[in-house]
Amino acid sequence: MSAPHELSPPSWARAPQYKRKSLEQPSAVGVEVSRMQNLPVCTCCGQPTQGHKKYNRKAFCPVKMMSTSKGLDNTVYNSYEHFTSVVDKVER
Ligand SMILES: [Zn+2]
Repeated sequence: MSAPHELSPPSWARAPQYKRKSLEQPSAVGVEVSRMQNLPVCTCCGQPTQGHKKYNRKAFCPVKMMSTSKGLDNTVYNSYEHFTSVVDKVER
């Protein structure tokens, strides 16, 4: 007999391959992100104004230590107290 001898594949190769179905879980992170995008963004630092202080309706950015309000911008304040004192002068 000179028939070509075919190697039978090992038993593990013939075992049916179970396709992994990716678990589709409702991601709570996505909900959190969409909620974050609804927040007004600080034009100063580009982050949500949440946590930003306001004084007399003048927004103060603690990240850049600046204000985005008209007449108060282009100024870097030493502190929030410095900012409020300047607002007091402007509002007078
Ligand atoms: Zn800011």
